[in-house]
Amino acid sequence: MWALLILASIAAVSGTFHGEKVFRVVPQTAEHVELIKSMASLDVLDFWLPDSPSLVEQGKGADFRVKGHVAYDVQALIDQSGMQYEILIDELQEALDKQLDSNIRAVHSYEKYNDLDTINAWSANIAAQNPALVSRSQMGTSYEGRPMYLLKIGKSGLNKKAIFMDCGFHAREWISPAFCQWFVNEAINSYGTDSQFTSLLNNLDFYVLPVLNVDGYAYTWTSGGKNRMWRKTRSVNKNSSCIGTDPNRNFNAGWCSVGASSRACDETYCGSTAESERETKALADFIRKNISSIKGYLTIHSYGQMLLFPYSYTYKLADDHNELYSLAEKAVSQLSSLYGTKYTYGPGGKTIYLAAGGSDDWAYDAGVKYSFTLELRDNGRYGFALPESQIRPTCQETMLALKHIATHIMNNAK
Ligand SMILES: [Zn+2]
Repeated sequence: MWALLILASIAAVSGTFHGEKVFRVVPQTAEHVELIKSMASLDVLDFWLPDSPSLVEQGKGADFRVKGHVAYDVQALIDQSGMQYEILIDELQEALDKQLDSNIRAVHSYEKYNDLDTINAWSANIAAQNPALVSRSQMGTSYEGRPMYLLKIGKSGLNKKAIFMDCGFHAREWISPAFCQWFVNEAINSYGTDSQFTSLLNNLDFYVLPVLNVDGYAYTWTSGGKNRMWRKTRSVNKNSSCIGTDPNRNFNAGWCSVGASSRACDETYCGSTAESERETKALADFIRKNISSIKGYLTIHSYGQMLLFPYSYTYKLADDHNELYSLAEKAVSQLSSLYGTKYTYGPGGKTIYLAAGGSDDWAYDAGVKYSFTLELRDNGRYGFALPESQIRPTCQETMLALKHIATHIMNNAK
């Protein structure tokens, strides 16, 4: 207990991530779980996977960043407890500096992490350059007043089915918006040359929202990288000085019942009501309005290498479980065929943990049968500090899974 108190007293507010470490622990006993939760309650840990200390369980690994300058103290406590652990990232600031390892000088590149202004300029430009295939509209406006731009990609036609894909729910998952940009570019460049993509774009429309949480994403680029680990939206909470809601706990799907927090300071805060956030409401409104055509919903996150489908708010199996399971199995096998990257797959609740209020569950219950969450690379070696040099292989392999799912939707959706 003394050690914990000392830890609390020296947990300093730190501007950057110098000296910070990311641990992976495997709690084997109830005491181990208790120790992790005690440390978490002092606000010295930032959970990477799972995304909340409440989800830590005996026998399951947990990755967390130790905030401030208490990494050695936390390590000493873990050592004393006899808990199994490894240090995934020994010096977080260095890992974040090394993340930007692309030598490309162009303002926008598919192999760089682009900031929000650059992504917005890119989406305007790509729509202007490809009017026969791409159009851009504004789906909504964020809490801080930023436009949420949506791209529609497909050859024009009547009564087309559609797939909706979003990226950038969680601000710090930078590989996610990078994937949406990659997807749009590959779709356009493949039209007329790749028969599978040509057929997909002739028969389907893809709605692509490159960044849902525009305020959060913009925030991760500010103050010289100091806010790089931000996850939530940027809305002000009543009766709390803590900012933001977890957009992926804010949907009306078992809202806030399990695996979500009702405390505004928590990273998995579910919000004051379902769809309290302008960004999630804009998304839900768009899908409700277009529910007759939208047959697929894909939401791109990182990390953990997982392909998940409903449900996450209950262990109950989805009505379409067998079809979704078999589709996920094949998509993952396609993905692995390129670089051997291993993905786990299955319903969210059973595969990882229960988490209510997610957009995939909501979309499924709203009538979008083919609803998936992808957790992209990696498995924790870099976590949210995934280097730019991994954007290309990550996107290439993910495209294989996506094309498989989209083709299945094209051929089977009613
Ligand atoms: Zn996420």
